[in-house]
Amino acid sequence: MTAKPTPHTELIRLMQDLVAQGINRGASGNASVRHGRGMLITPSALLPDALTPETLVEVDLDGRYDHPLKPSSEWRIHRDIYAARADIDAIVHTHSTHAVALACLREPLPPFHYMVAMAGGCDIRCSDYAIFGSEALSRTALAALEGRTACLLANHGLIACGSSLDRAATLASEVEHLCEAYLKARAVGEPVLLTDTDITDVLERFERYRQGQLD
Ligand code: ZN
Repeated sequence: MTAKPTPHTELIRLMQDLVAQGINRGASGNASVRHGRGMLITPSALLPDALTPETLVEVDLDGRYDHPLKPSSEWRIHRDIYAARADIDAIVHTHSTHAVALACLREPLPPFHYMVAMAGGCDIRCSDYAIFGSEALSRTALAALEGRTACLLANHGLIACGSSLDRAATLASEVEHLCEAYLKARAVGEPVLLTDTDITDVLERFERYRQGQLD
């Protein structure tokens, strides 16, 4: 009989999956889930294969923790998103190649494909630049996430959020794939963008799927 998943085992599985998918490399990237009086987050500088439930760090919403390992250097951005967004219960942050490439152009992902709406609107914004781990990065990321569940971080990477770890990881993977497709399309031409009406229709259809009104 396999053991019942816990937030700890789910977080470890997710981090190992992101490496298997080629989305994270080495110890880059981090993830967290709302837990207790704050969150459970991956530790700083530990390879996913070395993660065990004991290595994950509980951090409260004041940023306090009592653990021999340090939480990810990006813990502040996770904490600030949970404090500001009641709709978000899990966060995945990656330095995946194509998201990084677009973030280094400091461009948003426009509505070139209907799945851009998966993050909640007609684009996936790119934040302003701020140094990693800083309050300034939290502020600019929160602004870029307004009305969305994903954003790019200028010259850095991507953030994907959701109501569960699986949803956040699926969105991170989808955004990386969309950035790759967009950059490929841009390399040979100018992609035709969907209209606001097209995206509104997609969002309505997504909602009907969620409510089980469509197969
Ligand atoms: Zn980062």
